[in-house]
Formats: sequence, structure tokens, C-alpha cells
Amino acid sequence: MRLTVADTGVGIPPEELSKIFERFHRVHGTKSRTHEGTGIGLALVQELARLHGGKVWVSSEVGKGSTFEVEFPLGVAHLPPEKIRAATFPKLGSEAFVEEAQRLVGEEIAEPALPSAETCAYSYPSGARILLVDDNRDMRDYVKRLLGRFWQVECAADGVEAWALVQKDPPDLVLTDMMLPNLDGFKLLSKLRRDPDTRSIPVIVLSARADEDARIEGLKAGADDYLTKPFSARMLLARVHATLQIAQLREESERSLRESEDRLNLALNVAGMGTWDWDVSTGRTIWSDRHFRIFGYEPTEDGAVPLAWWLHSIHPEDWERVQRGLDEAKRSRTVYAPQYRIRRNGTNEIAWVATQGRFIYDDAGNAVRMVGVLWDVTEAKQSREKLDECARLLDLSSDAILMGDGEGRVLYWNEGAEKLYGWTDEEARGRLVPELLSTKGLPSRETLAASGRWEGEVVHTTRSGEKVTVMSRWVLLKDVSGRPYRSLEINSNITERKHAEEALKEHAEELARFAYVASHDLKEPARMVACYGQLLERRYRDKLDNKGVAYLDFIVDAAQRMHALINDVLAYSRVTSSSDKYVPVDVNELLHEVLANLKVARDECGGTVRWSNLPMVMAERSQLLQVFQNLISNALKYRKPDVPPEITIEADGGLSPVFTVRDNGIGIDPQYHERIFGLFQRLHARDEYSGTGIGLSICKRIVERHGGQLWLDSKLGHGTSFHFTLRPS
Ligand code: ADP
Repeated sequence: MRLTVADTGVGIPPEELSKIFERFHRVHGTKSRTHEGTGIGLALVQELARLHGGKVWVSSEVGKGSTFEVEFPLGVAHLPPEKIRAATFPKLGSEAFVEEAQRLVGEEIAEPALPSAETCAYSYPSGARILLVDDNRDMRDYVKRLLGRFWQVECAADGVEAWALVQKDPPDLVLTDMMLPNLDGFKLLSKLRRDPDTRSIPVIVLSARADEDARIEGLKAGADDYLTKPFSARMLLARVHATLQIAQLREESERSLRESEDRLNLALNVAGMGTWDWDVSTGRTIWSDRHFRIFGYEPTEDGAVPLAWWLHSIHPEDWERVQRGLDEAKRSRTVYAPQYRIRRNGTNEIAWVATQGRFIYDDAGNAVRMVGVLWDVTEAKQSREKLDECARLLDLSSDAILMGDGEGRVLYWNEGAEKLYGWTDEEARGRLVPELLSTKGLPSRETLAASGRWEGEVVHTTRSGEKVTVMSRWVLLKDVSGRPYRSLEINSNITERKHAEEALKEHAEELARFAYVASHDLKEPARMVACYGQLLERRYRDKLDNKGVAYLDFIVDAAQRMHALINDVLAYSRVTSSSDKYVPVDVNELLHEVLANLKVARDECGGTVRWSNLPMVMAERSQLLQVFQNLISNALKYRKPDVPPEITIEADGGLSPVFTVRDNGIGIDPQYHERIFGLFQRLHARDEYSGTGIGLSICKRIVERHGGQLWLDSKLGHGTSFHFTLRPS
């Protein structure tokens, strides 16, 4: 192959031609444009040509130009085999060489024609500043012109100048030659990498050395990219652009990493969480500030903590569990998440902590590091304990106690509920109550939600199909927006009581029926005894001696009492069997009727009865009449000797008024206030005051049937006030 390089330059004088290929020979009187000649170049060309089995010639004419010719054989056959190895030179297009050559001869290089997409892309990152370091002025001018189309370019001619510029205002990228006067590229690079302010500035190395070792050396020294001279303009632009872009991305990702780290720290702080990082091989452990404080220590400067601080803090009883958890997590590669007690440094205070951590393994599968978070759960533990205590207390109750969420799903179900309904707490939890029990008598959820609480009887069908009657008390808790979020329910089993009540009611009704029938049937014979007794007394009195007359009086008196008794028992039994309806009753008018009925008794003792403006009430008229009649006739009867009875009837102005019947009679000792309402209970002998001891029992029964109450105020010798209310539904 023959390579001919002809120029139109200054030419070489004929006397120099023969020496032109000698080492250090320089032709005098000619000007070198870029390199101050060393006299080595052509000697090198000749040497290289020889090494490749070739030759060199020159012909020249002063003032016209020179022609150099190199010739060498192609292929490798003529070369020593030990010198041959695979090519490591980058494949460069002719473009780079042409540009380099153009530059060397000082020819204006056409701006590289870039596809428009590329042109646009290079303007990013906009405003980036590049520091170009090269001792070759031509090179500097050329590169500056090239890069200056897109970015700001500053130039330095050596390493010292470059370092001064970097310190003044760090650029976004440094583009440096390796061979530099004063401070070479390697030293500049290592200075940049050592200083924390400049460590991250990307550096592209430009070098004439194209071999692999040089490239590795440059990258090892911390260069981000390595560009071999000669390079094409497009290649340089592309590399600079790519490096700037990578730096930009790196900065962005570092920033977002920093931000997410800040956010994580904030979240951990807010959550009261500490972090720990344990180097398994060296034992070096780092805690966050919060971790130190949870353990009762002041944070150390760098967060490093002697392992003993941790070990000594762990409660001895929990130590084995913690150790086992670590072993297990390491073996199974799972999360280590125990809760254990610690004694806070310098105090006797025991705290509970929860932690979660994970081992990190190397490629060989050895656990090398472990990281995790830790937080204080003392309060949660204490309230959990309190809750457990409450739950145990609730379990002591034989009532069924249930707690549900807003939808009625069971959250808590005590032992009482387990016993009553047959479902265990575990089975009931999370299920809706209607899935477990069918319920009769409970108002709708909407009604319950509106009132927030309810109390009443409910019939549940239990797991075994048994029906139980419970007295249910029910409270609904609502959140600030008024939505129910908890329901609390206590159900007392009243099934047996209900059965007993029903049986009692049945008995009572039977008894009342019997009393009615019996007294009704007894009335007639009693009346006959009284009638015929009186007849006998009238007709045959003079035929009897004194004793006979007295006996006859006894018979008549007994028959009359018997008659009265039967009447009272009948009245008493009628109270339950009556089927009268509640009607509006004018009490004033009712009292006129009572007074008419009691005219004889009033006239006998000169008693007065007073009232004014009594209200209308809803009542069974005949029964209310009986209440007033019994109370007023007692007031007339139990009068003080020689003091005419004065009776007042009043009602307070309430919606369901309290009626009072007050007298000025003998009064009742408080110890008998309860007793006098019992059947056949009397405080006096028959010869003192007549009576059957049924009157007040009848009154009480009537009042209670009207939903009211009957009671009294009285002291012996100071008159009596009977009060009663009526609340007919
Ligand atoms: P009795 O037929 O004996 O009057 P009651 O049931 O009406 O039966 O009354 C029970 C007892 O209460 C009476 O025997 C009497 O001792 C006492 N008692 C009732 N009303 C009065 C009153 N207004 N003053 C004093 N004692 C009274």
C-alpha cells in the first residue's frame, strides 16, 4: 500500500532532504504552526514504516511544496507473529481524521451538519457550563466553537488554571486533556474527586492514547468518559451531551432520594419510630436519635452504639425469646418482629418496645447486615392489659354482653353470651348478630339508631334452637358525623322469671275466678242467715231468755259481717276481672256520687268533705269511684272521738296529677304504712272499728291497674293523707 501526502507548503531545501528523516533534525527557517517541532515526527514516520516492513520517500521544491510517500505491504505474513494481536483501536470513520487534518492545516472546518432532532436534544440541559482544559490553543478554539453552540464553555490551558476556575465557580462538566503542563489531567481529576464540593462534577478525558490500558487508567482515576483523539465533532457532542444528561439525571435521582429520605425520616419521627442498622460481621450498630431516646440514652455523634447498650437493656425474661427470634429470622429469611421489655437506661422504668427488621445476605448467602425500625408500645400494652382486665370482669357476669361495630358485626362476646347462646367468642367474632340469633321484639336498626339507646324484652332463638327471653339494654355509640360505630348490648336471661310470672298470673286469675264464684255463691246463704236471724229476733224475742237473745244478736251480727266480707272479696276479685274501658272521668262529679253513697255515715258523725276544681282523668269510672269511696269512708271511720272528721280532696296541677285525700283522724304509726295495704290487714279490734281489712287492698289494686301508685303520709294522732296517681295508657 502506498500513501502519498502532498502539500503546497514552504517546501524543503534540497540540502535538507537527505537529513529530513533523522531524529531531532529540524529544518531551519520554517515556521511551525501548531507544534514547535521536536524533530522527531518524520524520524518516527520512518521508524514506524520500517517496523511495518515499509519505506518512506520525500521529494520537495522550496516555495512549491513537498510530497511524502510511505509504502508498506498489506496483511500480516511479513510481521513477527509475537507482535500480532487483535486490534483494539476504535473503529473511526474517516470523518475524524479529515477534521483533525483540517484543523492541523488551519482550515475552516465546516460545522458538523446535525440532524435537527439532535440539535434540539443537545440544547438540554440548557445553560450547562463546561470547563475545557487543553494546552493546545487550536484544540481549545475548535472545541469551544463546537460546544459553544449549545452550552457555555470556559477554557483553561493547564491543570492549575483549571483548578482555580473550578474552585471559583464549579462547572457542570470538565472536559480535559491528560497531558497538561503544571498539573496533569490525572492530578486534576484526583483533586476534583477528593474535594466534596467538586466530587460529583462529571469529567470527560480527551487523550491521544487509544489503548485499552489508557482508557482503564482514566476511568479508574474517576473519569466519567474517555474520548480518544482524534474524535469527530458529532462524537464529541454526543458524548458531552450524554454525560451532562447522565449527571443531570444522577442529580435529580439523588435529590429525589434525599427528599424521599427526608420524608421517610419525617414519617418515622411522627410515628415515633427509631431505626437501627447492625453490621453483623463487625458488630457495629447505628441507631437513630429516636432509638437512643426510647432506650433512655443521649444520641452519640455518629449514631454508633456499643452492642452492650442494647443487650443490657433487654429484660432478662425476654432475652431468650429475642435471641430465638433473631436466629429464626436469619434462618428462614423472614421478618424479625418481636415485642420485648427493656429497662430504660438509668431508671427502673420498664418499657415495652416493638421492632421489625430484616437480615441482608451477601451472594454467598451469609447474613451480613440487619436493618429495622423500633417503637415504644408501652402505652398500647398497658391499655391492652386494662382491656383484658375489663374483659375478664365482663366474663364474670352471667349476663350476655356483646359489642358490635357500626354494621352490627360482633367485636366482643363474653362468656355469659357463650353460655346463653351456645356460640363461642371465636365463632361469633366478625359475624352479624342476626346470623347467630334470630331475635323477636327488637325495634328496627333505624329506630335504634335514631334514639341511640333502648331497653326492653326480646326473645332470642339460640344455636340449639332454644327460645330464651332476655331483658335487653342497648346503647349505640356514634362518631362526630353521627354515624353509629359501636353497639353495646347487655342481655339478662329472664326466661325462668317469665315462666314463673306467667304461672303466677295464671294462679292469680284462677284464684280470682274462684273467689268470685265462691263469694257469689256464699252471698245467698249468708243473706238467708242474716234475714232469718232478724226475723227470728223480731217474732220470737219474747219467747227467748236473755242468753238466747244475745246468741241471736251474735248470729245476726256475724251474718252481716259475713255479708260485708263477701261483698268486699267480690269487689276485690272484680278489680282484675273487670273489663271496663278507660273513659274521661270528671272527678268533681264522681265525688258527689261518692258523698251520696256515704250520706248515712257522714250524717252519723257530722263529717265534712271538701274539694274544688279537680281535673278530668282517664279511668275505669266504677273503680275510681271505689277508690275515693274507700278512702273517704276510712277517713270518716277512723276519726278521733269527739272530733268531727274534716276531709279535703286535692290534686296537684301536673299532667298526671297526684290526688290527696287528707283527714284529721287518729293517724297511723309509720311502722304500719306498708302492712295496711295487705289483704285482711287491720290495726284495730272489731269492737273498736268495724271493717274487713280489704278496703285499702282494693284501692291499691285499682290504682296499680291504672298504672299509678298509692302511698300515705301519717303519724299516729295527727291525721292521715293518702296520695295516689293514675297513668292509664
Ligand atoms: P278496714 O276494713 O279495716 O277499714 P282497710 O283496708 O280499709 O280495712 O284499712 C286497713 C287498716 O288501715 C284499717 O284497719 C285501719 O287501721 C287503717 N286505716 C285505714 N284508713 C285509715 C285512716 N284514714 N286513718 C287511720 N287509720 C286508717
